[in-house]
Amino acid sequence: MEDKLQELKTHFSEIGDLNSAASLLSWDQMTNMPPGGAPARARQMALLKRLAHEKLIDPALGKLLDELQPYEASLPFDSDDASLIRIARRDYEQAIKVPPQLLAEIENHAAAAFQVWNEARPANNFAAVQPYLEKTLELSRQLADCFPGYEHIADPLIDHADYGMKASSVSAIFAELRDQLVPIVQAITAQPPADDSCLRQHFPEAQQWEFGLDVVRRFGYDFQRGRQDKAPHPFTTEFSIGDVRITTRVEEHFLAEALFATMHEAGHAMYEQGSDPGYEGTPLAGGTSSGVHESQSRLWENVVGRSRGFWTFYYPKLQEVFPDQLGSVSLDSFYRAINKVERSLIRTAADEVTYNLHVMLRFDFELAMLEGNLAVKDLPEAWRERFKADLGIVPPDDRDGVMQDIHWYFGIVGGMFQGYTLGNILCTQFYDAALQAHPEIPGEIEQGEFGTLLGWLQENIYQHGRKFTTSELVDRVTGGPISIEPYIRYLRNKYGALYEL
Ligand code: ZN
Repeated sequence: MEDKLQELKTHFSEIGDLNSAASLLSWDQMTNMPPGGAPARARQMALLKRLAHEKLIDPALGKLLDELQPYEASLPFDSDDASLIRIARRDYEQAIKVPPQLLAEIENHAAAAFQVWNEARPANNFAAVQPYLEKTLELSRQLADCFPGYEHIADPLIDHADYGMKASSVSAIFAELRDQLVPIVQAITAQPPADDSCLRQHFPEAQQWEFGLDVVRRFGYDFQRGRQDKAPHPFTTEFSIGDVRITTRVEEHFLAEALFATMHEAGHAMYEQGSDPGYEGTPLAGGTSSGVHESQSRLWENVVGRSRGFWTFYYPKLQEVFPDQLGSVSLDSFYRAINKVERSLIRTAADEVTYNLHVMLRFDFELAMLEGNLAVKDLPEAWRERFKADLGIVPPDDRDGVMQDIHWYFGIVGGMFQGYTLGNILCTQFYDAALQAHPEIPGEIEQGEFGTLLGWLQENIYQHGRKFTTSELVDRVTGGPISIEPYIRYLRNKYGALYEL
């Protein structure tokens, strides 16, 4: 069995190497590549991904997994070997169900749709993207139908990002959250908005960059195994456990942009860096789901990075870096500014309270489109109506309405958005569990010390990589299912102190 297990590991490490090479080309494309490189780069990445996919659907791999089944059954569920075989089989079985022609069609269409969207969005031309989105929806349905036996047509697509979750389970969590959240949003937005003008001054790029690096270095992002570069849209990418990179974007006239993006991406990256080193090159390395991944970015960005305790330590340092801009701004004013809550149009720029309403709108629309209850041509109007109902404002155009996110125009419709709000919910649930084990954590954060929190995350979440599903992990860490209660309590405590709730 040792031989067969080694064979499995070698097979997956070759798949991983091909995918990592493609990711490195993609990272370079987003950070350094001159525009002239685009056509060749697309071809090079497509070749590597095709080779990786061919290896993943290799019938010899299926045979190997069958042969390893008795060995897997003889081991405890959470042992590394059993988990390796289990996750490898899941990846293999998901991959073989999709005909290669469909996969190629989805990829080619995504590239074409992205190009059209890229030009249509600034021109506010929904009519141009409509036929492409209709085709994307059709391909998404075909993709879902490769996994027969589902309860809801979105289930296989949700499964892909958040394995084990379904339209029904996510909808139930979101409905409960929505009931609690809407009155909080209403109570806050009925009051005068926080003044964030202190963040909207001139902050030179070099100092912003250094300050952000100092913060995430202190968090525990390991620069021996990582680096930060500039990119138009911040992202994290990994080529191995030993090389997990982040990117950020700097706005010289808005201090909150680069700093919080750096914290956010470092949260993703520390999760990836924290996989058990023995998982290198195996399907166990990395993050388990989009929801858990997002919980780690949001924990560092919001729960830690937008907390009063964090700024008790860091605000004097920030004032030292920007004495002219912030020297006469109090900690209180700064803290209110970075936690400003407002009804806004753009999801990615939304505050941590209203953000979830943006996500739920998209999630519900994905379900309705896949069900056939919402036609693409009716989407802009539905978007405006729902926006008015949920956020009390109406987008003035489609550019900042239905066309604002890349997701539907560069992929599929279904499973694209729920992870963001699951992440908000999970980050407070995990943080509560960390505080129960270590009540000293908030006091340490006020001293600029993050080691106990990072150590707890490493021990309870990071090291496991993809070994457990979201619900298995939540159950192990918190002793129960996913719950919105810690998140609502967090919002009430934090925003109750900032506003009258
Ligand atoms: Zn993220």
